[in-house]
Amino acid sequence: MDKNRKVIIIGGGPAGLTAAIYAARANLAPLVIEGYQPGGQLTITTEVDNYPAFPEGITGPDLIENMHKQAARFQAEFHDGEAEKVDLSQRPFRLTVDREEFTAESLIIATGATARWLGLESEKKLMGYGVSACATCDGFFFTDKEVIVIGGGDTAMEEAIFLTRFATKVTVIHRRDELRASQTMRKRATENKKIDFKWFSTVAEILGDPAAGGVTGVILEDTRNGSRTEFRCDGVFMGIGHTPNTALFRDQLEMDENGYLVKAEQGTTRMAVPGVFAAGDVADTRYRQAITAAGTGCQAAIDAERFLEEQAD
Ligand code: NDP
Repeated sequence: MDKNRKVIIIGGGPAGLTAAIYAARANLAPLVIEGYQPGGQLTITTEVDNYPAFPEGITGPDLIENMHKQAARFQAEFHDGEAEKVDLSQRPFRLTVDREEFTAESLIIATGATARWLGLESEKKLMGYGVSACATCDGFFFTDKEVIVIGGGDTAMEEAIFLTRFATKVTVIHRRDELRASQTMRKRATENKKIDFKWFSTVAEILGDPAAGGVTGVILEDTRNGSRTEFRCDGVFMGIGHTPNTALFRDQLEMDENGYLVKAEQGTTRMAVPGVFAAGDVADTRYRQAITAAGTGCQAAIDAERFLEEQAD
């Protein structure tokens, strides 16, 4: 495998794989560093019904596999290791992946964001069986059901409001009695008749059996006195935030207060370091969809191609 590349893409989700398709078709022979869990957040989704061109829907893993095959067809190469170190202080950029050194004339960062989870065993067991971190992806499966959303920020309010299109009742579970969400979102959520709030509450356990219909309820814990009660519901949505996967780039690239990459020029994928481009959720606090990630992956590959052309002039 050639370790000195024109383009290296870090991340094997829809942003990274779309960048790989475009860069490979531009004869840039990209290398995709996929990480140990290729596919990103789509791999923890079941059915994807909102990705265009799949009228019957497609599973997240199948969608990723298709994109992977399409990139491979144009000779994109893949490395399933994890990028451990990146040095952007000079070009070519240096990357360490599983203790091997790589260099890249241009770098596309598509490392994504990871939804925060509570860290419960029961949550892991029931993921995809009533437990989700994406209302846009999974809300439809809860038509005429009762669901809870955990969290008090904008993500939680947005998920709760969206879920009222399907669910008969949405209960927001928040650990304090004051929402962190912006005033507009707070107003919209509190005025929605289908949304209820349970204050001073956290979820201590999720109840249900993946083989028998999934989630049946949760055990709520009162944050003031630790008392526990059972609460019946059919679905549990996490709204406790996302963590962008940007630790590798700390002190090298501009980030906002939550760690999301900040682009140098809106409407492009360019970062302030020439030759570095950001695609997908790692630089997106607003949309966070597979299709928007794929779109910015395409933009990043085109931006990288133009950058390399300018260097060659
Ligand atoms: P936030 O960090 O703003 O909110 C997370 C919420 O989850 C908080 O209410 C927090 O409680 C709660 N929480 C965190 N950890 C736990 C836990 N372990 N157990 C229980 N509750 C927990 O994240 P968001 O994703 O909501 O927002 C991130 C950024 O993205 C914000 O700047 C937001 O404005 C923006 N955003 C904007 C949107 C829009 O404009 N449409 C949509 C979504 C996000 P506590 O309040 O007690 O800390």
